[in-house]
Amino acid sequence: MKLTVIDQALDEKVSKTPVGMAFWAGTGPAMTTCRTCLHYTFNGYKSARGNKGGMLKAGPCKEFIRLTNVDTHKIPHETPSCKFYKENKTPPTIIDSRKDR
Ligand code: SF4
Repeated sequence: MKLTVIDQALDEKVSKTPVGMAFWAGTGPAMTTCRTCLHYTFNGYKSARGNKGGMLKAGPCKEFIRLTNVDTHKIPHETPSCKFYKENKTPPTIIDSRKDR
């Protein structure tokens, strides 16, 4: 059953914001994502071929955990950043480029 949308702007924010974000997606600096934020927690790579070439897994946001004391949500790395964004000068790569481990 589809409910009537009363506030279109709020409905769009909710639909674009995964549970676990510290604030609405898309309210951070332009063209930035959670992956390059200092609050984003590296959570490893999904295994592809053997131990290399895997894609970055979703990870928890430390700012969300600090605000809510809930640590069970992981957000996709490509999510547009929020207003609590802080640049990470050495973010994890999207694809695991490490050689054999
Ligand atoms: S931009 Fe940073 S603070 Fe905001 S939800 Fe993503 S990881 Fe958390």
